[in-house]
Amino acid sequence: MKNNNINDLHKEDKKVKIICAFDIESALLKKGEEKHHLPNLLISYTVCDVCFNYDTFSKSSDICHICGVYKNIFTISSCVKDFGDYIYMNF
Ligand SMILES: [Zn+2]
Repeated sequence: MKNNNINDLHKEDKKVKIICAFDIESALLKKGEEKHHLPNLLISYTVCDVCFNYDTFSKSSDICHICGVYKNIFTISSCVKDFGDYIYMNF
């Protein structure tokens, strides 16, 4: 376990934080006797400390230079991979 001192924690707290919330839907497919959940829709919302208005709980602009577009919609069976690519390639 990493031992952080209080100064390091204060420095980390001052960095811009990005929050990404998402929900995922899936279809239930039956293969023989087994049932599989196949993800087919994932919608995410992304905000950061710079563009999020804590008084109105809304994003102040649709596209932020730090966290990008507010709402992203990923569809079809590649939605989980596409969402992962979005997260890992943008942040
Ligand atoms: Zn932002």
